[in-house]
Amino acid sequence: MLDAKKALKDTARIVNILAVLSVAVPLLLYAIAAWFSYHAHFVDAQRRLESTADVVREHAIKVFDTHLLTTLTVNEILRGMSEDQILSRQDEINRRLKNVIQGLPQIQDAWVLDLKGFLIANTFAAPPGRDYSDREYFKVFQSGAKIVPETYLGGLLKGRFEGSIFFTVATARRDANENFAGVISSSVNPGYFGDFYKQVAETGFSAVSLFREDGAILARFPGSHENLLNYPKWTMLTEKVSANPREGFLDGVKTIDGVERQVAYSRVTGYPVYVTVSMNRSTIIGAWLEQMTTWALIVLPVIFALLGLSLVALRYTRKEAVALERLRREMSLRETSEAQLRQLQKMEAIGQLTGGIAHDFNNLLTIIIGSLNLMQRRMARGETDVIQFVDGAMDGAKRAATLVAQLLAFARKQPLEPKPTDVNRLLTGMSDLLQRTLGGQVMVETVQSGGLWLTNIDANQLENALINLAVNARDAMPDGGKLTLETANTYLDDEYCVTHAGLTAGQYVVICVTDTGAGMPPEVAAKAFEPFFTTKESGRGTGLGLSQVYGFVKQSNGHVKIYSEIGHGTTVKIYMPRYIDSVASAEVKRETS
Ligand code: ADP
Ligand code: MG
Repeated sequence: MLDAKKALKDTARIVNILAVLSVAVPLLLYAIAAWFSYHAHFVDAQRRLESTADVVREHAIKVFDTHLLTTLTVNEILRGMSEDQILSRQDEINRRLKNVIQGLPQIQDAWVLDLKGFLIANTFAAPPGRDYSDREYFKVFQSGAKIVPETYLGGLLKGRFEGSIFFTVATARRDANENFAGVISSSVNPGYFGDFYKQVAETGFSAVSLFREDGAILARFPGSHENLLNYPKWTMLTEKVSANPREGFLDGVKTIDGVERQVAYSRVTGYPVYVTVSMNRSTIIGAWLEQMTTWALIVLPVIFALLGLSLVALRYTRKEAVALERLRREMSLRETSEAQLRQLQKMEAIGQLTGGIAHDFNNLLTIIIGSLNLMQRRMARGETDVIQFVDGAMDGAKRAATLVAQLLAFARKQPLEPKPTDVNRLLTGMSDLLQRTLGGQVMVETVQSGGLWLTNIDANQLENALINLAVNARDAMPDGGKLTLETANTYLDDEYCVTHAGLTAGQYVVICVTDTGAGMPPEVAAKAFEPFFTTKESGRGTGLGLSQVYGFVKQSNGHVKIYSEIGHGTTVKIYMPRYIDSVASAEVKRETS
C-alpha cells in the first residue's frame, strides 16, 4: 500500500517533469533553430551581396573600358593636329567624334579642351571657345599631377548649358611629342547605371551604388539624379576600404541616408571607383522573423499537444492517487470494524460461558439444596429414612463436579495422566460402549491402520472425547446412519502448521470420526468448540461436548478440525503427536550398530 502510494507519487513527479519538458524542449529547440536561422540569414545575405557586387563591378568595368576606348580613338583622330588645325576642320572633327560615340548609350557626350581649358571640339554642337578651365577634371590635368590610372573621374555635375546631370571620364590629350595638349573628356549619364542598378536591386537589394574612391557618389538606385547632387561624400567607405581595398563586406554600417545596412563593396579594376550593393538589416531580420513565424506555427501546436497530453496524464495520476487514498482509508476502517466485531464476539462468548455456568450450576445447587432441605425436615421430625435425599444431593454434587471437570478440560487445566497408548487397541476396547451409546439404528465401522504409532495420551479422556463425538453423531443421525472411526499415521508439514496457530510440524496419529448425518453450516462449525454453544433444544444439549474434545486435544499438544457439509455429514479429525520411546529406540540402535 505504502509502496503503491510512493510509486504513484513518483509517477506524479515524472508526469510533472514531462509536462515541463514537453514545453521546454520544443521551446529550446525552437530557440536554437532561431539562433542558427538568424545567422544563416545574415550569412546568406552576405553571400548574395558579395556575388551581386561582383556582377555590378563587371558591368562598371565594361562601361569604363568603353570610355577609355573612346578617349583613345579621339586621341588618334586628333593626333599631330594643332589647335588651329582642329578649329579650321571643326565640323568634320565634330562629326567624327559623334560617329565614335554613336551607338554607345553609356556615353552621353565627348569633348576636347585645349591647353587653357577652352572647348575646341565636341559632340553636343556647341560653338568652340567655351571656357571649361574651372572644371575640376581640367584643373587636375593642368596641375600636371600624376594620375594613376590615367583616367580621371569627375564628380557629379549639372551641365552648365544644357542642365543635364552627368559625371565625366577624362584623360589627357598628348601631342606628337607625348606632351600635355589638353583634355579629352566624355560624360556619363548616371541614369545609364541607374537603370541597370534598378534591375539588380529588384532581385532583393535595398541599394546599388557607384562611388568614387573618395566617397563621392556617381550613380545610385534608388534616388533621383537631382538628389544625388546633394549627397555628401560617404567618407566612411574610404575609411572602411583602406583595410581591404579590393573588395569586402561592411557588417551593419550606417550609410549616407542613416539606415543601417549590410554592404558588399568591390573596386572597379583599373578605375578609381567602387560599386556597393546593400541590404537593409531590417529586411534581413524581417525575412528571418517571417521564417520564425512559419516555424512557430508548426512548433506551437506540437507544444500544445504535448502539454495537453501530459496534463491529461497528470489528471489521471492525481485521480488514481485520490482513489488509492480512499481505498487505504476504507481498508483501515474495515480493519477497525473487524477488530470491533471480534471483540464483540469474544464478549458474547464470555457472556454465554458465564451464563451457561451460572445456569447449570444453579440447577445443580437447586437439586442439592432441595434434597438437603427435605432431609433436614425429615430428621427434625425424628425420621431416619433420608437415604433417597442423600442420593439426590450426591447426584447433584457429582454432576456439578462433572461440569467443573468439563470446564477445566476446555480450559486445558484438567489433571491428565498421559501414557503411551495404542489407539487401535483403545478403539477395540471401546466398541461395545460405542455401540450402546449410538443405539441400534447406527452402524459402527472401525478402520484400523496397521503399524499405527503410539501416542502419549490420557486414555480415559480420549475415550470421553470419542464418546462426545459419538453422541453428537447420533444426534445428527436421528433416522440412523453410519459412523466410521478410522486411524492412520500422518505427517503435518510446515505449510499446514503456518496456517494453524500453535501447531508444530511432525508425525501424528490421526483419528477421523465420520458420520452420515445432517452436517452443519460454516457459522455453526466456527463456533462448535465454544463451551455452552449448542443448537440443540434446552435439556438435550449442554454445549460442552466439543469444548471438552478441543481442550483435551490442545492440552495433549494435538490438533482437532471439523470438516462438515450440510446434508453430507461431518468428519472430526483428531491429531495426536507420535510417541517415540527413547529407551526402545536406543536399544534398537544399539542392536543394529
Ligand atoms: P451439544 O452437543 O451439547 O450441542 P457440542 O459442543 O457437542 O454441544 O456441539 C455443539 C454444536 O455443534 C451442536 O449443538 C451441533 O449444532 C454441532 N455439532 C456437533 N457435532 C455435530 C455433528 N456430528 N453433526 C452436526 N452438528 C454437530
Ligand atoms: Mg454434544
